[in-house]
Amino acid sequence: MKYVSTRGNAPELSFEDAMLTGLATDGGLYVPAEVPALEPREISMLHGKSYEDVAFAIMRPFVGDTFEEAEFRAVIKAAYAGFGHVSRAPLKQVGDGVWLLELFHGPTLAFKDFAMQLIGQMFQSVLRRRGESVTIVGATSGDTGSAAIEAFRGLDNVDVCILYPHGMVSEVQRRQMTTPAEANVRAFAVEGTFDDCQRHLKDMFANRPFREETRLAAVNSINWARVMAQVVYYFTSAVALGAPDRKVSFCVPTGNFGDIYAGEIARRMGLPIGRLAIATNQNDILHRALVSGEYRTGEVRPSISPSMDIQVSSNFERLLFDAYGRDADAVRSLMDELRSGNGFRIDDAALGGIGEGFASGRVSEEETMSRIRAVHDASGQLVCPHTAVGLEVADRLAEPRVPMIALATADPAKFPNAVERATGIRPPLPIRMADLYERPERVTQVANDLAELCRTIREGRAA
Ligand SMILES: *Cc1c(COP(=O)(O)O)cnc(C)c1O
Repeated sequence: MKYVSTRGNAPELSFEDAMLTGLATDGGLYVPAEVPALEPREISMLHGKSYEDVAFAIMRPFVGDTFEEAEFRAVIKAAYAGFGHVSRAPLKQVGDGVWLLELFHGPTLAFKDFAMQLIGQMFQSVLRRRGESVTIVGATSGDTGSAAIEAFRGLDNVDVCILYPHGMVSEVQRRQMTTPAEANVRAFAVEGTFDDCQRHLKDMFANRPFREETRLAAVNSINWARVMAQVVYYFTSAVALGAPDRKVSFCVPTGNFGDIYAGEIARRMGLPIGRLAIATNQNDILHRALVSGEYRTGEVRPSISPSMDIQVSSNFERLLFDAYGRDADAVRSLMDELRSGNGFRIDDAALGGIGEGFASGRVSEEETMSRIRAVHDASGQLVCPHTAVGLEVADRLAEPRVPMIALATADPAKFPNAVERATGIRPPLPIRMADLYERPERVTQVANDLAELCRTIREGRAA
């Protein structure tokens, strides 16, 4: 399987190289040259299989010859061994025709663990074989960073530097990033927003000498391997509710468009999906883009669902690439417009194509709070604010006779203040991390400045 850049000016890569690089050298994102399709019969055969077996069947065609069969099975097994639930991604009914897909039973209590734990194992396996080391730099609005640090801590061929916006992540998220003691992981509190962090990251990748000297690698949701890992739970959950004989829809709390784009890949592989519903908070660039065709950035407004507080949604570029008939020149000129101004207009043909598969909704802070309260009143279930944003939109967009699966992206205990304000109940941390508030923190505070960031990253390397 070959991977091509959405901007058309970077070399085609194997899975292994696309995974180790993350972002393409032309600033684009890697996508598979073609998406493998499954026959309905093959999808039926996933029924009743373990999460790990489904993961193997779904991901195998994407990784090509990067791993031997037994090696890949071992990687998958190790990746999910630390999850706190046997089914890895349990499905719970929470309303009439609405199910919650719980994706927060991994070590950092958010869905990012599904991809990051797998990436950690895959990096280790590949780097060992090659005798190489890399510096992973990531920008996070909270959950990616903790998931990356948890997945890579203590590995001797990897340095991990995570940039997060100072003061804009929850205390649990911050502590998960700043308390691991291993020298190969470092957390940077940047005096800026998540979009600033993400922009600095992209600029580091565009700086070839720096990129080569530090052997830079990205594990942000722009890394294709992360999208791939997330395709798996679309299959396990849809099959549990009757696919491929029955169509299902999904509602996904969305920020960088990585999680929901995995749903689009599942659909193109043959999973019968009715709607993919994009749920945004008050930072609603994607909702506005779908409604008006205008992809226009604004100011980030901090919310109670901080992992979705972004204005530039990186993985959307992958969907645009497809919507424009894989025309890399068209994508490149849209992205140039975005870089030099505040956005671009999606042409009518592309917008029409997107509208066939996707719907969207925007949820205010008040609506998020009342949804947390309503779910608790109706079912006794506590949900995190991101999940509540998804459930609110699921409620608006559900169609009769099509099961709606709402993705529960984080454990409510990761955002205890909002949940307590909505319900009066403070969700406790799982026992395995109950001492998080006592562990000492270690963090590097840095200015919102690319040169200073590069210097600090270069000077502090452990490997
Ligand atoms: C990352 C994250 C999201 C957004 O996912 P994207 O893939 O960036 O769209 C939603 N909810 C939670 C809890 C997250 O950590």
